[in-house]
Amino acid sequence: MPTSGADRVSGYRAARFAVVDPATGEAFDEVPDQQPEELDAVVDRAHRAWRGWRADPVARSTALRVAADAVEVAGGDLARLLTQEQGKPLAESYAEVARTVARLRYFADLAPRTRRIVDGRPVRSEIRWRSLGPVAAIVPWNFPLQLAAAKFAPALAAGNTVVLKPSPFTPLATRLLGSVLAAVLPEDVLTVVTGREPLGARLASHPGIRHVTFTGSVSTGRAVAEAAAASLARVTLELGGNDAAVLLDDVDVDRIAERLFWAAFRNCGQVCMAVKRLYAPARLHAEVVEALAQRAKAVAVGPGLNPETRLGPVNNAPQLARIERVTQQALADGARAAAGGRRREGPGYFFAPTILTDVPPGSAVVTGEQFGPVLPVLPYRSLDEAVDAANSTGFGLGGSVWGSDLDRAEAVAERLECGTAWVNHHAELSLAQPFAGVKDSGVGVAGGPWGLYGNLRPFVVHRPQEA
Ligand code: NAD
Repeated sequence: MPTSGADRVSGYRAARFAVVDPATGEAFDEVPDQQPEELDAVVDRAHRAWRGWRADPVARSTALRVAADAVEVAGGDLARLLTQEQGKPLAESYAEVARTVARLRYFADLAPRTRRIVDGRPVRSEIRWRSLGPVAAIVPWNFPLQLAAAKFAPALAAGNTVVLKPSPFTPLATRLLGSVLAAVLPEDVLTVVTGREPLGARLASHPGIRHVTFTGSVSTGRAVAEAAAASLARVTLELGGNDAAVLLDDVDVDRIAERLFWAAFRNCGQVCMAVKRLYAPARLHAEVVEALAQRAKAVAVGPGLNPETRLGPVNNAPQLARIERVTQQALADGARAAAGGRRREGPGYFFAPTILTDVPPGSAVVTGEQFGPVLPVLPYRSLDEAVDAANSTGFGLGGSVWGSDLDRAEAVAERLECGTAWVNHHAELSLAQPFAGVKDSGVGVAGGPWGLYGNLRPFVVHRPQEA
């Protein structure tokens, strides 16, 4: 990313970096490239703000509801900015803003429960819950607003303060969100910092941070865990996925094809829980490939601000290059593109929606996370073979099983090694459910009450019982 406009503010080099519109490949705005040294003052202010914020749960709950209303009012501006910097169709940006608001409202109404320990001893022993202190929230570029809210809403509801760092590819909507929230929340309760590495690494290792909640790739997650170990801060890691969908032999292909297509291609496949590998019974394989390829060829691809667009560009140039590389590798390994297979000529980071068949199971597009509009469809002969293949990667975020007999499909879904398994759906999430990847896909639990308790520590008060 290019930098521009260096000057000096408050003793720091206030460089800025450009933000690129992925639909054009052109820079259209810029933000401060904050330096790691600036975090000392930011975290110090977050620490001071914590004293007031943690004191009154009722006031907090009210403030978070007011914050949700303010974000709703700013929804149009947030959605347009999000589409411009992220690339997703405007309707999806509106939906993301709505999910951001919903998270604030959900956690505003959630409070931890004090519990009495009853174990026969003549004592009164109570478990209460205390906040942790300043929380670092580090977010990727695929859902900048809703993933930020999934972190700051439970952290704030628990009484912590938050320093939020968006991806350098998508800082603008988060900065706007930060200023909308700053106008209604007490000062320094939520601070947005923007900058390129090593800003995130420094934030994760900052001694004043008590919880690092991170969403991103497995490799960065490992670096974050190591960095946080320096101050023994708690870590919650929501990492990459390589979700498999397994079609059963009684599946009605016509009936599910549309839903399945969008489970793989929504947000241009840049979803941690997108279907990234599809296993179809050998007998149905050709029919499945055809149904998906038809849709891939017909879907309207274009700039997200264009009202007809259903699929926008890939978010950034390195990601486009990565998608191109794994696709070319699969084709070189002997795969065939039933649709797409290459990037689109012309401006912007567009990649043709791609359905791959005849893919060797060891190809990187199957074993790794493509995170783009490319879906390998693999045939299987026995169900055990399909389940083994689905469980064969280091990832374990989600998975799904599709068929007409729901009980049978559920029994197969139970065999998937992942945090959430669906039948005839994929990536349908409730705010009230736990969200936790297994294997390399994550550490800790977010979502629902678990997300709130993940931002709290137990505090036990023990005294003799009244005579
Ligand atoms: P990434 O790991 O490159 O970056 C994520 C965030 O970490 C960004 O803000 C980045 O600037 C920051 N960062 C980079 N290096 C850092 C370091 N050394 N220390 C601290 N922070 C650092 O991920 P990405 O490319 O932005 O996002 C795509 C990945 O995110 C995919 O793997 C996807 O599956 C994953 N993801 C997971 C979930 C989930 O809930 N499990 C959700 C969305 C995305």
